[in-house]
Amino acid sequence: MDRDWEQIIIYGTVIIICIITVYVYLYRQKKKTKETKKKISIAKEEGLYEPISLHPYIDLNTCIGSAACVSDCPEKDILGIVNGKATVINTSNCIGHGACFHSCPVEAISLRIGTETRGIDLPHINHNFETNMEGIFIAGELGGMGLIKNSVEQGQQAIESIIETKKPNKTNILDVIIIGAGPAGISASLAAKKEGLSSLTLEQDSLGGTVFTFPRSKIVMTAPMNLPLYGRVKLYDTSKDELLQLWNEVIAKNDLEIIENTKVEDVIPTKDKIFKVVTNNGKDFYSNHILLAIGRRGTPRKLGIPGEESQKVAYRLLEPERISGKKIVVVGGGDSAVESAMLLKDDNAVILSYRKENFARIKPKNKEKIKEAIADKSLEVLFNSNLTHIKNNHVSLKINGDSGLKKIENDLVYIFAGGELPNKFLQNAGVEITKRFGYIIKKHK
Ligand SMILES: Cc1cc2nc3c(=O)[nH]c(=O)nc-3n(C[C@H](O)[C@H](O)[C@H](O)COP(=O)(O)OP(=O)(O)OC[C@H]3O[C@@H](n4cnc5c(N)ncnc54)[C@H](O)[C@@H]3O)c2cc1C
Repeated sequence: MDRDWEQIIIYGTVIIICIITVYVYLYRQKKKTKETKKKISIAKEEGLYEPISLHPYIDLNTCIGSAACVSDCPEKDILGIVNGKATVINTSNCIGHGACFHSCPVEAISLRIGTETRGIDLPHINHNFETNMEGIFIAGELGGMGLIKNSVEQGQQAIESIIETKKPNKTNILDVIIIGAGPAGISASLAAKKEGLSSLTLEQDSLGGTVFTFPRSKIVMTAPMNLPLYGRVKLYDTSKDELLQLWNEVIAKNDLEIIENTKVEDVIPTKDKIFKVVTNNGKDFYSNHILLAIGRRGTPRKLGIPGEESQKVAYRLLEPERISGKKIVVVGGGDSAVESAMLLKDDNAVILSYRKENFARIKPKNKEKIKEAIADKSLEVLFNSNLTHIKNNHVSLKINGDSGLKKIENDLVYIFAGGELPNKFLQNAGVEITKRFGYIIKKHK
C-alpha cells in the first residue's frame, strides 16, 4: 500500500471515530434531555417542581453542563440536564445540603429562598441573629439556612450574641429561654450552660427536632462541627440514632434542663422589658432573652376532640414496620394521611377517615394506589366522616352528617390534619416577616 492510501485510511478512521463520538454524545444528550423533561413534567403534576425552601438556582449563562451538581446531589432527582445545561426537577424535595453549590466548577449555582413567582416568608434577622424585637433571637432553619451543621453553629453563635447584649439579671428571671430542641436549640442550650447563663429549653415534641422524625434507616449526611461542652463532632454519614445518642449523652452529662412535650403558645414582651413565655401546660416562664429555634415545619394541627390527648394518638408515623395486628384509624385526606395508611394497611386493619367527599389534593400516584387499595379491600375509606371521640378501645365518628355516631373498635389513631406554620406565633411576638422572592442565602465555598 502506498503512503497516500495509508494517510487516507488513518485520516478517514480518525474522522469516523470523531463523527461516532459526536453522534454518541449528541444521542446521549438528547436521551438525557428527554428523560429529564419527562421527570420535570411529572414533578409539575405532583406539585414537586416549585421549591418550598432553600434550593439551587442555576445561572444558565454560566453553566457548562458538567453535571457535577447532578452527581454530587445526595438526594434523588433534584437536578438533571436539559440541552447540556443543569436544571431543577423535584425542587420541593431539596433539603438544602448545598452539595451542588460546592461541586459546580464554574460557580453557576446559588442557593436561594423563594422564586420570582412564589415568595417564601422569612423572619427579619440582623447579622447577630437578633430580630426586629430587641431581645428575641432566631437560630437554625427558621432563619432560612437549614441543615444540622448550620443549625448547630447558629445556635451557638446566637448565644454568643445574647451574651454581648446581656441585660442585668433580675431575681427569678432567666437569662434566656430557648424554644425548640432541634439541632439549633440543643447547641444553644449547651452554649448557654457553657457560658454560665441561666436558661431553660422548651420543646413541644421530642428532643432532636426534625432529626427525631427521620426514618431509622436514613443516612444522615452532615459535616464535622463543634458542639459546645462536647468538642468536635467528626461525623459525615451517620444515623439518626447515633446523633440522638450523642446529644442525649452530652445533655445528661451536663445536667441540662430541656422540657419536652411542652409547646410555647405565646411569647409576650412585658412593659419591664422582659418576656413572658406561655406554654400549653398552664405554666408560664419569664426571661430576659428569647431564642427561637423552632425550625420551619410548624406544629401539627389538632382535631380538638375529647380523648385526643390519649397516648394512642400520634401526629406522625415514625416506624410503620414495627406496627402490626392493630386496628388503626388514620385521619386526613392529604398525601401524608394516604401514604401512612398505605404503609400500615398490609399488617393492620386500617380505616382512613376524611371529612371531604373525595381526595382532591393528593399526588396522582397516591390517588392511583389508594384506588387500588379500596378496590381490593385492603383499606377502608370513610369519606364525609369526622372523628368525635377517642376512647381507650374505640373511636366514634359522625358520617355524612348523620344524627347517630358510628362506633369503631380501635387501638391507634394517626392524625394528619395539616400544620400551623410559625408565622402567627412570630407575628404575635412582634417579629416582622418578609416575603422573599429568590433571596440569595450566602454560603461560603
Ligand atoms: C426529610 C428530611 C431529611 C433531611 N436530611 C438531612 C440530612 O441528611 N442532613 C442535614 O444536615 N439536614 C437534613 N435535613 C434538614 C435538617 O433536619 C434541618 O435543617 C434541621 O433539623 C434544622 O434544625 P433546627 O434546630 O433549626 O429545627 P428543627 O430540627 O426543625 O427543630 C425545631 C424544633 O422546635 C420545636 N418547636 C416548634 N415550635 C415550637 C413551639 N411553639 N414550642 C416548643 N417547641 C417548638 C419542634 O418540635 C422541633 O423539635 C433534613 C430534613 C428533612 C425534612
